[in-house]
Amino acid sequence: MAIAENLQEVRCEIAELTQRFERQPESVRLLAVSKTKPVADLLAAYAAGQRLFGENYVQEAVDKCQQLSSLADIEWHFIGPIQSNKSRQIAETMAWVHTIDRDKIARRLSEQRPADMPPLNVLIQVNVSGEESKSGIALESLDSMVKLVSELPNLRLRGLMAIPAPQENEAAQIQVYAPLKQAFETLQQHYPEVDTLSIGMSGDLAAAIASGSTMVRVGTAIFGARDYA
Ligand SMILES: *Cc1c(COP(=O)(O)O)cnc(C)c1O
Repeated sequence: MAIAENLQEVRCEIAELTQRFERQPESVRLLAVSKTKPVADLLAAYAAGQRLFGENYVQEAVDKCQQLSSLADIEWHFIGPIQSNKSRQIAETMAWVHTIDRDKIARRLSEQRPADMPPLNVLIQVNVSGEESKSGIALESLDSMVKLVSELPNLRLRGLMAIPAPQENEAAQIQVYAPLKQAFETLQQHYPEVDTLSIGMSGDLAAAIASGSTMVRVGTAIFGARDYA
């Protein structure tokens, strides 16, 4: 598996898209989504310069984080659904969480964040596709969630995340992202620390970068197809 070459291709694609949509080349970070992939694959990506890794399953995330603990400059992002009985493990290991969509989980993560770690960087997950998706809050509930998260001492609100339902083409994808883009820009005006819009996967990079993405989450295009999940 040519992980280094795949990474290079994804980086080139991001660079081309930032140019096409008149964005700064450095304004979009690449999160390598390594769920279900062995540590050897993460090491190959690391050797090729990748530092941001995203994981979806708590036990797998914690195991990989421990196995790679000597690589202190890896930034671990949790991007899967969070059950409350697993929040402590996340609070104790991850640098970022992208999937905040419940008050209870936000409160627990803040309470459980160890005092000797920096605040946990968090993104509020927004449901941009209505009934088709169960995760994420409706945009109408964003203000109250933002207020809660921004007041929790051990969380640092960095922005918003979404996983839209697949659309037929780029124009339709951009349309789905439009209200999110607007909400993100409004949020940034009120919270100077908000700098991250986590949208874009292997299948919709162009629409996401057109819509202001600052972090794309790419798995398949880097590590190849997954056997499961
Ligand atoms: C798996 C996953 C990705 C990566 O998806 P690919 O299609 O493999 O690029 C991105 N975001 C989330 C939340 C995921 O669960």
